[in-house]
Amino acid sequence: MLKPMSSHMSDGNQKPQFVDTHCHIHFHDYGLDPDEVIETARIYGVTKLLCVGCTLEDSRAGTDFVANRDGCWASVGIHPHEAKQYPNTDQLSSQLKELVQKPKVVAVGEVGLDYYYSHSSRQQQIRLLEAQLQLAQEYSLPVVFHVRNAFDDFWAVYDNFHGIRGVIHSFTADKSELLRVLKRDLFIGLNGIMTFTKDPGQLDMARAVPMSKLLLETDAPYLTPKPHRGTICQPRHVEVTATFLAELRGERLSMVAEATSSQATKLFNLV
Ligand SMILES: [Zn+2]
Repeated sequence: MLKPMSSHMSDGNQKPQFVDTHCHIHFHDYGLDPDEVIETARIYGVTKLLCVGCTLEDSRAGTDFVANRDGCWASVGIHPHEAKQYPNTDQLSSQLKELVQKPKVVAVGEVGLDYYYSHSSRQQQIRLLEAQLQLAQEYSLPVVFHVRNAFDDFWAVYDNFHGIRGVIHSFTADKSELLRVLKRDLFIGLNGIMTFTKDPGQLDMARAVPMSKLLLETDAPYLTPKPHRGTICQPRHVEVTATFLAELRGERLSMVAEATSSQATKLFNLV
């Protein structure tokens, strides 16, 4: 029987509630029973979660997955790694338009640029990002961004689009990049990486994120936080990362839970 540690429930009688703003438990090869995982997440106070798409098929699977599951919403989009699979962005856009109009689809993503790996060319990634930003604009949806080693090019594209809200998911850059994110009024998504990083610059950044711009996520099945390394990541691990961040930042866990949950609920309209 899994039980949350009682020390996490210390302030007030109310158990902290969390939102996992980025997970992939709808993956067909996730490796755990997703309904058990959702049930366990609730025990740990993770009552809302966003299933984020990476390909067209996966985005479609995500919309089906959330349709009949309480507390689950979907984001549809194509990950930059997959850009070369979609040379025809017009065709892709019309396919994505069908998906964004489905019930419980609350965001576009994950989209962005990733120059760390070269699964797709930079030009392909940029074209795909532009097409999906147009979609987000047209449907007034917030965007879940994946940006790695590519911020200069990313801002050049992003700044051409007006009024795009969203989150830079799995943010691991330094404080100077953080300032550029905050200047655009975007949110910062932090996950299990913070619990095992050996880079003091990343922890400095995590301390510097204003509470009003912080969101929590897991990226499950990836990036399992300490001390659960070696197991498949689950939305319930948001509570572990939240506890770590509360301590790192010298804040009460209940305050981190409350602020991040209400911000996530508002940004993605999780009602
Ligand atoms: Zn992801």
